[in-house]
Amino acid sequence: MSARILDGKALAAEIRTALRAKVAALVRHGVNPGLAVILAGDDPASKVYVRNKTRACEEVGVRSQQIDYPAAVTQEELIARIRKLNADPAVHGILVQLPLPKQIDSAAVLAAVAPEKDVDGFHESNLGALLAGKPRVVPCTPAGVMRLLEHAGVTLAGKHAVVVGRSNIVGKPVALLLLQKDATVTICHSKTKDLAETCRQADVLIAAVGRAKLVTAAMVKPGACVIDVGVNRLPDGKLAGDVDFDAVKEVAGAITPVPGGVGPMTIAMLLENCVKSAA
Ligand code: NDP
Repeated sequence: MSARILDGKALAAEIRTALRAKVAALVRHGVNPGLAVILAGDDPASKVYVRNKTRACEEVGVRSQQIDYPAAVTQEELIARIRKLNADPAVHGILVQLPLPKQIDSAAVLAAVAPEKDVDGFHESNLGALLAGKPRVVPCTPAGVMRLLEHAGVTLAGKHAVVVGRSNIVGKPVALLLLQKDATVTICHSKTKDLAETCRQADVLIAAVGRAKLVTAAMVKPGACVIDVGVNRLPDGKLAGDVDFDAVKEVAGAITPVPGGVGPMTIAMLLENCVKSAA
C-alpha cells in the first residue's frame, strides 16, 4: 500500500492564514512585525530562497526589507549593518541568508545578531537553550519537521528516530527536538558504518544530507514515517529530496514529498518566529 503523503504545502498555508490574523491584531496594537534579510553575493539558489521568504512575509503582513551586498563584502561591513538592525526597534527579525561568501566567517556574523531577533534560531545562545531543554527560538527547518510530525499524529515517545545529517541548522537541532519528545534518537553522518542497517531500524527517519536518492526503499522499515529535508537539483533541473520518493512511498507508512514537504514549513516557521519576536 502506498504511504500517506504529508502535505507540507497545505499545512504551511494553514499556518500562514493563522499568522495573518495574528499580524493584523498586532498592527491594531501599533506593532507591525518587520524582518530584515541580508543577502551577500549572487548565489542563484539563495536569491530564490530570499525571494520566497520575502513574498511569504508580504502575504501575512510582515514588513520585509532585503539588504543586498556584493560577493566581495567584508565581514566588518556585514557586522556593522547587523548592529544597526539590532538597535532598530522597527526590525523584529534578522535573517542572514547562508551560505555567505567564502572570505566571511559565518559563525562570527551569526553571533552578531541579537539573540532575540535571531528568527533563524542559529545564534549559539538559542542553540544552547535548545540543548538545555528550554528552547527559545527554534531553527525553522527542525521546527517545521516537528510540526509536520505533530500534525500527522505521529507519536514519538519510545519510538526510534534516526536522523541522517548532523549540521547545526538541521540535523543536530531536529535530533534534540525528537529527544525532547521522548524518542530514542540515533544521529548518522558521513562516517556512519552501515547507514542502511541503521536507517532500517527507524520508526521515524529524517534525511537531511543533500544527496539525491541516498535513502532507498531497502533502507526503510515497512510502515516507517519518512521526512525528507534534502533539496537537490537534478541534471534535468528538477528538484529532488534525499529520499527515492517513488520507491520509498511503497514501503513507508507516511512520507513528505520534495517539493511540497519540509520546504514550505521552513518558511512558515520563519514567519512564526518573526511574529513571536514582535509580540
Ligand atoms: P550540510 O551539508 O551542512 O550537512 C549534511 C550532513 O549530511 C552532514 O552532517 C554530513 O556528514 C551528512 N552526510 C553527507 N554525506 C553523507 C552520507 N553519504 N551518508 C550519511 N550522511 C552524510 O547540510 P544541511 O544540514 O545544511 O542541509 C541538508 C539538506 O537539507 C540539503 O539538501 C539542504 O539543501 C537541505 N535543506 C533544506 C531545507 C528546507 O527548508 N527544506 C532547509 C535547510 C537545508 P558529516 O557531518 O560527517 O560531513
